Amino acid sequence: MSKVHDLICIACPVGCHLKVTEGSEILVEHAKCKRGEAYGVKELTNPTRIVTSTMKIEGGLSSRIPVRTAEDIPKDKIFDCMKEINETTLTAPVKMGDVLIENVLGTGVNIVASRSMKAI
Ligand code: SF4
Repeated sequence: MSKVHDLICIACPVGCHLKVTEGSEILVEHAKCKRGEAYGVKELTNPTRIVTSTMKIEGGLSSRIPVRTAEDIPKDKIFDCMKEINETTLTAPVKMGDVLIENVLGTGVNIVASRSMKAI
């Protein structure tokens, strides 16, 4: 028996409303491009996300600095990833792209700085 999912593609700002039917194969309808078709299949088989947040930093102009995962991580690891980010405190200076947490949760993905911050 097939199951139908209504999803909104997040691969670009257009936000196509996808109808994804899960049966012996996964059928993606209403995607305006191939990226949407790939998103629909991936969302049902191995959903992943880029995580963006902020991290505590000492000795800089602000008390927090924007950070993100360098690549997508599995959706079910987002909560634990946010916990690791919240439990880490940096010391300025930090350069955009610096690796702040290596191989977060064994995913093979690093947490990197989204901007630079000088020491004061
Ligand atoms: S299907 Fe293509 S056009 Fe539509 S939201 Fe996804 S990436 Fe954008």
